[in-house]
Amino acid sequence: MAPATIPGRDGLATFCLHSLLREYGWLFFRRIGLRHPLRTARAMRAAGALDDSGAALDVPAPGPARPFGGPGALVGVGFCLKPLEPPCPSGRFNHDCAFLESLPRAAAAEIPAPCRACAIREFGLLALRAGAAFYVMTSAKDILLDVFAPAADAGVFRAGLFALCRYSFKPFAAGLLAGGVQARLWPFETGDCRDYPTWLRADRGDKPDRTEIAPPNRQTLRDALRDASQATPPARFQKRGHVLFPLP
Ligand code: SF4
Repeated sequence: MAPATIPGRDGLATFCLHSLLREYGWLFFRRIGLRHPLRTARAMRAAGALDDSGAALDVPAPGPARPFGGPGALVGVGFCLKPLEPPCPSGRFNHDCAFLESLPRAAAAEIPAPCRACAIREFGLLALRAGAAFYVMTSAKDILLDVFAPAADAGVFRAGLFALCRYSFKPFAAGLLAGGVQARLWPFETGDCRDYPTWLRADRGDKPDRTEIAPPNRQTLRDALRDASQATPPARFQKRGHVLFPLP
């Protein structure tokens, strides 16, 4: 069970103040705020009011609940889940996963040692079975351009399941709400960023710790993806930009 509070955790307002003078802040304003002003104002208000202390955080979207899976569904997990020893063959601070990008061939061959216990491999395969896109998340700027903006502008993503730092929950939820993406967020249990300076270093790729999802949360994420399994699941992904999309 995740702790109810994290000492020193900043609120959404503090995070926004920190970000104002940084590229992410003005890019969010230009790419989302200016194009969708009303929706962004509502999203900031709603995100600030969310209770982010539970085992997972549900981010609502207007209208009825959307079943997860198929077109418009996205699974996103932090790059910091990648293994350190032995290291991920794709490198660390990037959107790449050599295993998922070589399906179905990779699944039929011997699984490389770093990939065996890698959560990215497990959730990527489950995402594919659910017909969902898969995204290895890196910087806030990339997440803005790869997920929030396409969702807000063109409805590319409508429902999402994500694993990230609890510290980022509210700013992340604000982007999802502005994009109209209904989602559930699970926090990392260990190795996560818990203050702005640490978060900022990780946002630039300086992340010496490997994060982990608590076993009960890993199981609920697994269950949510299994529940969304498609009758005829896609066999492979195609990478478009930084995101892996299922190919029929
Ligand atoms: S499965 Fe994990 S370790 Fe293997 S290539 Fe993908 S991200 Fe790297």
